[in-house]
Amino acid sequence: MFSKNNLNNLKTNSLDWNLIQTELKNKLGNEVYESWLKKIHFLEEFSNYLLLSVPTRFIRDWITSRYLDQIIKIVKIYKKDIIRIEFKIVEQKSKNESLNNRNFNLVEDKENISFIKDTYLQYNRIDQNKRFENFVLGKSNKLAYEASLKTIENLSHYNPFYIYAGVGMGKTHLLNSMGLEFKKNNKKVMFISAERFMYQFVKSIKSNNMVKFKEYFRNADILIIDDIQFMNGKEAMQEEFFHTFNALLDKGSQIIVSADRAPNKLSRIQERIKSRFSGGLVVDIQKPDYELRKKIVQKKLEDLKNFYTEEIKLSDDIQDFISTEITASIREIIGAVNRIISFSRVYKKMPNLSETKVILKDLLNLTENKVTIDLIQTLVCKFFKISKNEMLSSRRSRYLVRPRQTAIYLTKILTSKSLPEIGREFSNRDHTTIIHSVKTIERLKEIDPEMVDNINKLKNRILYNEKQNEI
Ligand code: ADP
Ligand code: MG
Repeated sequence: MFSKNNLNNLKTNSLDWNLIQTELKNKLGNEVYESWLKKIHFLEEFSNYLLLSVPTRFIRDWITSRYLDQIIKIVKIYKKDIIRIEFKIVEQKSKNESLNNRNFNLVEDKENISFIKDTYLQYNRIDQNKRFENFVLGKSNKLAYEASLKTIENLSHYNPFYIYAGVGMGKTHLLNSMGLEFKKNNKKVMFISAERFMYQFVKSIKSNNMVKFKEYFRNADILIIDDIQFMNGKEAMQEEFFHTFNALLDKGSQIIVSADRAPNKLSRIQERIKSRFSGGLVVDIQKPDYELRKKIVQKKLEDLKNFYTEEIKLSDDIQDFISTEITASIREIIGAVNRIISFSRVYKKMPNLSETKVILKDLLNLTENKVTIDLIQTLVCKFFKISKNEMLSSRRSRYLVRPRQTAIYLTKILTSKSLPEIGREFSNRDHTTIIHSVKTIERLKEIDPEMVDNINKLKNRILYNEKQNEI
């Protein structure tokens, strides 16, 4: 059916690139992943190195200079013999790709497309679709919204203006909205992500173009920097940023910054920059409450109705299910609605509740870590009728080893815990033991229908709290 499992393709001996990608995303965050790492494809594995592909030379250089160490580290967890990675430049067949992805990925992710072009202007990407008018208000984002409105009315009063929140909460949306309004008033608006600021900086040094770089940024009336937590570069760059920052404040330009955390929690950013941030107005966006989540679902449906000619509707049940279960971020709520609607268009019917659960499986798992290792261990022990002490012991009797491996496998696929974290929760086992367990269960699933059945039953119990009495 339409359920898909990352680990299903894991062959016992070859490297599963999807798995590595997932780990990279967890480790380096969505922005870095979406902008760069997602573009890496697996080509071939050799005895001690990997051949990967990227679409351009520029992406290769960027990835090699900043993320290669981490990539190798993660690859080594799965294949310790790998000591280096080589990249081949393979141009993307982007049209086909986007066609293939369309079913479950409708309107999201238009960002991150046009970064290859090299002019400064290309970096100044204000998205016309993210405006104040279509920002849905709730308790959790009201403060940030109001402060944003005040910022555009009252130039330089809140300066710098710093918004922070987890991923998918509406930071970029508000930054965009402000940028658009400032533009309407003919201000010179520079809107850039910290990632790109760093890239532009490095590139300008290489091409001896620092003067232009400085001029360009210092010329802005409004400098908006998104995701400042990624500004983790070398001293020289922070130095330049600090000077740009001061020069702009001096001449009365407005500075607006977003981050995933409060200024004092930023790591690898100079103290004096942090203290500058703290000196302005700092507001956060909290997680959306039920009421806001419901409003977002309704708003998204409205939007889609205008987008398609055929009728778009979602039963109250399912609207309610999404609003109740998808709590992590607004982006996920929107993603969930998109997926359900895509499903209904493809299969020409509305999914029922249990189909909805399958379609949204990965989003449901992410929700607030509802799936804990403890829950998995408890349910697996119950299922196999062993005690938790037995599961966590070092005894290697067969009747304990399988349940233990099953619990480890389920933890790997149902939580976002890293291998070492899982190891710790299973009586400090080594991460290689964890990999071995995952691979063993994968292999058994391929040859033993009972294993498949057990895993499915357990998954349903863990994820959807299904009844215990139908063994
Ligand atoms: P962040 O920058 O915090 O990661 P974004 O601003 O990119 O989050 O928001 C993620 C998605 O959710 C975007 O499509 C954005 O338009 C939408 N979104 C976020 N908050 C709201 C809101 N309050 N009203 C409507 N759409 C929202
Ligand atoms: Mg953002």
